[in-house]
Amino acid sequence: MDARKPTLREKIQKLRHTFLTKVPTTVAVGRQMCERLMVSPKDAGLLDDLYRVFHSLKGSAASFGLEKISAQGGLGEEMLLAYRALDEEARPVSATAVAAEMIALLAHVQTLAAQALDIELEIRPQAAAFDLTEVGSVGGQPRKRIYMCDDDEIAADAIASQLGCFGYGVANFTSPDALRAAVLANPPDAVIMDIVFPGSNNAGPDIIASLRHDIPNPPPVIFVSSRRDFDARLRSVVAGGQAYFTKPVRTIDVVEVLDSLTSRDAPDPFRILVVDDEPEVAEYHSLILEEAGMVTRLLHNPSGILEALAEFRPDLVLMDMYMPQCSGRDLSRLIRQIPDFISLPIVFLSSETNKVTQVSALRVGAEAFLTKPIQPEDLISAVAIRAERTRTLRSLMVKDGLTGLVNHTFLSQYLDTTVAQARRDGGKVCMVMIDLDLFKGVNDTYGHPAGDQVLVGLARMLQQRLRNTDLIGRYGGEEFAIVMQNISMKEALGVINTLRNDFSQMKFHAGDRSFSCTFSGGISRFPEIPADRLVDAADKALYAAKRAGRNCIEIARLEPLP
Ligand code: GH3
Ligand code: MG
Ligand code: MG
Repeated sequence: MDARKPTLREKIQKLRHTFLTKVPTTVAVGRQMCERLMVSPKDAGLLDDLYRVFHSLKGSAASFGLEKISAQGGLGEEMLLAYRALDEEARPVSATAVAAEMIALLAHVQTLAAQALDIELEIRPQAAAFDLTEVGSVGGQPRKRIYMCDDDEIAADAIASQLGCFGYGVANFTSPDALRAAVLANPPDAVIMDIVFPGSNNAGPDIIASLRHDIPNPPPVIFVSSRRDFDARLRSVVAGGQAYFTKPVRTIDVVEVLDSLTSRDAPDPFRILVVDDEPEVAEYHSLILEEAGMVTRLLHNPSGILEALAEFRPDLVLMDMYMPQCSGRDLSRLIRQIPDFISLPIVFLSSETNKVTQVSALRVGAEAFLTKPIQPEDLISAVAIRAERTRTLRSLMVKDGLTGLVNHTFLSQYLDTTVAQARRDGGKVCMVMIDLDLFKGVNDTYGHPAGDQVLVGLARMLQQRLRNTDLIGRYGGEEFAIVMQNISMKEALGVINTLRNDFSQMKFHAGDRSFSCTFSGGISRFPEIPADRLVDAADKALYAAKRAGRNCIEIARLEPLP
């Protein structure tokens, strides 16, 4: 038995098959409508229904590569448009002839579908042979290992201890050959490489270039060198270096690059709601998007839109234009009238080629209009680009620009919700307030940009070292707050004190001067401290820590209300 999973191509074949087997039913429905048209030639609703039958035949057939059937659908559309353009009075005269013509056309469609089922029609090559790149993949070992190769051991140790503060484990190798052997034996998450080694001018890039021939997935490489010239930079690029820093390096800069190069967190997949009254078509588009790593939800009946939006929280809605219950335009308008979904991108996917109709659809607030049939790659990129942008915009609303942490407003709301939840289910919530010590002095002595560097450094360290379930926010200028759930005061104090100690070891640079910083903190915990005094109590504890001499953490005590 063949137990392998069906390929995308096979899944699409299956959908196409289902579509073909349903054609006789569609044709029967269409024929009945034509017969009714002979009796009621002025029935506008009937004309709409019939138009939808042809329109969807045209679009769906094209998606499945059934061009002849699609063409018949297009002819049917044209006949109806011409009929609609007739004077009300002229319609009864030609109704019978037009209906008969359309019935003949439908019969032809049925024959074509039967033939397609009989002989395996070749699917259009581009529909079958596309090669999808994954948008986000799954990964997941816990710790990030960096191999560093620098013959200057003192400089290497300095960088290593700094990177340690950001959660990277660093092993140093003093010769390129030792590094090469280590990478081959046990590849790290990234390599930091010097360029010049004793006895050889360009050993760094040479070794890195050779590694690319030896292993299929060489680790990403950052070059660090005292050389500032074009030649050294070019050699490092040619060797495949992803970044280049000149010594002395700013740890923050290296960390930033390492974070992005070694990120193992698969980004949350995009969530796409596909609204289409035709199950096969909806599924076809959803298959393509899922194959590219997105998560989809299908909605066949527009009346379920409110529940679908609320439950599924899509990043984007892919919507059909013509549906029996309501048009895509009206559905978009309806969505736009809900404040929560004002910025939710809606993309129409329809075989409608009429520009006027397209523009009118865009006017109701749709983001884009894609026409069926669409190439899988085009669908994926059109959807991914817009979903990504929504995510970015959303995050900008809640995130602080300098540090990327959530802002005061968001953190306060989150704290309220978390405490309310804890009150219901007996959970515990710690509120931690952190404030940099004598920070004004840092700005005054080293300049505001150096101060910013410290803020970013602390933010990153907190992000990397705390648990995913802890929410970290920038509470004010040089104040940070952390909401930790279900943790004892002792544990929280332990964690924050370790961070405090590590932070005090971090070196920051301003020109050729270097300095370090400390912070003080206050912690309060619900339910020991009542919900409405949690922030205030943490704040008071923080100031107690400042009074106690700074660079320490204090615990909030329950004081009697004044
Ligand atoms: P303390 O130990 O008592 O907290 O002393 P402090 O100097 O840190 O406290 P103070 O509140 O007097 O000064 C805070 C300083 O933080 C003043 C302000 O210039 C600086 N600051 C606030 N936001 C930013 C920022 O975004 N970037 C930089 N570089 N500095 C900032
Ligand atoms: Mg301060
Ligand atoms: Mg302050």
